[in-house]
Amino acid sequence: LIYLDNHATTRCDDRVVAAMLPYFTELYGNPGSVSHPAGHLALDAVNQSRELIAQLLGADPKEIIFTSGATESNNLAIRGLATRPRRRGNHIVSVATEHKAVLDPLKRLAREGFEVTLLPVSQQPSAEAGIIDLQQLKNVLRDDTLLVSVMLANNEIGVLQPIREIATICHERGIPLHCDATQAVGKIPVDLRQLDVDLLSFSGHKMHGPKGIGALYIKRSEGRLRLSSLVDGGGQEQGLRSGTLNVPGIVGLAAALTLCVQELPAEMIRLATLRAQLFALLQHEVPDLLLSGPALPDDPAQPLAGKVGRLPGNLNVAFPHVDGEALMMSMGHIAVSSGSACTSASPEPSHVLRAVGLSEDLTRASLRFGLGRFTTENEIALAAQAVGQNVRKLRSLRDA
Ligand code: PLP
Repeated sequence: LIYLDNHATTRCDDRVVAAMLPYFTELYGNPGSVSHPAGHLALDAVNQSRELIAQLLGADPKEIIFTSGATESNNLAIRGLATRPRRRGNHIVSVATEHKAVLDPLKRLAREGFEVTLLPVSQQPSAEAGIIDLQQLKNVLRDDTLLVSVMLANNEIGVLQPIREIATICHERGIPLHCDATQAVGKIPVDLRQLDVDLLSFSGHKMHGPKGIGALYIKRSEGRLRLSSLVDGGGQEQGLRSGTLNVPGIVGLAAALTLCVQELPAEMIRLATLRAQLFALLQHEVPDLLLSGPALPDDPAQPLAGKVGRLPGNLNVAFPHVDGEALMMSMGHIAVSSGSACTSASPEPSHVLRAVGLSEDLTRASLRFGLGRFTTENEIALAAQAVGQNVRKLRSLRDA
């Protein structure tokens, strides 16, 4: 198998697994049971992991709430803020290209009487395809806007939203900003002091860590933002997320993030270089292919250069004149995605590609490549060759 679907999930790094293993067997205490050493040792591990994660992201340990993943973090941020007893209004602003783990909680709130404004994004073809217009954001903010939620990196086209500028605009109006940074944390530098968001979601399994663990950062400036909890019980995680803590997962999340941050500068260049190779090879195989999302950087050694940034490991291309489903079926041992993996159970074309202006046919005939830590140059070459052969074959069948 050639695995090029690292936006859907990543292989857990062996070093992360090794860090986690003792917490399944020897160190299995409940961090809530501090009346004996087993509990203490587990609590120590949780505390150290929390401190490490906070430090790596420029936060305070008290600002990190562990959850089961980014879906839960997003739900806690959005629903937790919207349903708290005293809030500033009923209006929420987000973006058409957000992940379902933001859009669906918003849909539910809309059914319950909240008013949701989804901003459009810039259209392609454009070097800046996929970002929101900051003036448009300013125009839709209101005195009763209770939250703005904008993702940092898009999971399909890799586009990076200008979160720092968005935070400034929100804060001028006293509105909190939530950021779904699931695809960004561990892949590009994320410094919470610099980003200045109020809430930020991330997840272990997108950064070569384990599945089923994630966190929500909640800024404490003048006291913590008040959120309603979604899961009540033993009062863990400051009462915001009850349930026995997933100690091996938390240790794994900290280990995964540590590795990502250590390797990040070199890894971003390596991935941007592999992506440039993949794109060049694909263009050679299928000269009329179309790049979706923002322009790739001119120089892979400057992976985030350009007016609009893009995740170094992301490539999304559309192949005109082929049947998308047949293309996907033809990929065999090459794991890629034709849309968001999280929504592939539903056959609708990707809402992200539609939002940047792709036709329904081109959306269906798109492939998303997500390169990761274990992707090699050889795999890139084999994948490009296979895509070329498949596209030519499908086109000849079509024309026959
Ligand atoms: N947000 C984004 C941008 C994602 O890409 C994903 C996963 O695909 C999620 C949220 C959901 O994350 P999790 O699987 O940790 O719940």
